[in-house]
Amino acid sequence: MNKKLVVFDMDGTLYLGDNLFEGVRELFEYLDKKHIDFVFFTNNSSHDLDSYYKKMSNFGIRCDLEKNFYSSAEVTIGHLEDLKAKRIYVVGNKCFLDKLSKHFEIVDHFDKNESIDAVVCGFTTELVYQSLKDACLYLETKDVPFIATNGDYRCPIEDGLYIPDCGGMIEWMRLVTGKKATVLGKPNPEIIDYLAKRFNVDKKEVLVVGDRLYTDILVGVNAGVDTLCVLSGESTLEDVKAYPHKPTYILDSVKDLPDLLEK
Ligand SMILES: [Mg+2]
Repeated sequence: MNKKLVVFDMDGTLYLGDNLFEGVRELFEYLDKKHIDFVFFTNNSSHDLDSYYKKMSNFGIRCDLEKNFYSSAEVTIGHLEDLKAKRIYVVGNKCFLDKLSKHFEIVDHFDKNESIDAVVCGFTTELVYQSLKDACLYLETKDVPFIATNGDYRCPIEDGLYIPDCGGMIEWMRLVTGKKATVLGKPNPEIIDYLAKRFNVDKKEVLVVGDRLYTDILVGVNAGVDTLCVLSGESTLEDVKAYPHKPTYILDSVKDLPDLLEK
């Protein structure tokens, strides 16, 4: 198949909660042996990349924090820098705010005389009504970019259950203000362009692997790269059949990915 970079989703693709799927360690040994680069990309902006690094390392997978881990938070920082944003209002958890505050001045409440450069929304389980309210007031009164880390409606937790994610929060804000967020993270194809450049590979040499159709598979489709949908997480074969954008490949799990890469 001649792939040089594999972009992995994590949850539902390599593990669920604390359970690493069968064959994952062998898969990374194979990639290592074949000198195929890989990236773990998560749309979840609310955790430190270090926590993912520790998790994968504890699973026994050899990886590098700087090289192999990216989240929609890093993409958001890059996007805001491109916009030359200085002062921003943010709906997000402490971890996301801490990350952003290293690059931008965070305005912490609504004031109609305050000038800001963007309203930013990320996934948070620490949501308070006041922050949604202030974000909406800024969107109603200022003509500034509205940026979301990701558009996922739900985030998987244990036992096949889901909790509300960023997609629903920005939908709520859209209904209130009429402003639609620019959604970064998957399925925005800019990520794939960015990673291909960073790893110095052609897009033909990139494979995106994930379990969710409207983020993992769609980002690959949007970027024009090959995709593999695994049925170990959110999507069933019926879902894949019903979805308008088809993955290039479908497997029950990543266990058979080395065989696929050999073809
Ligand atoms: Mg997933």
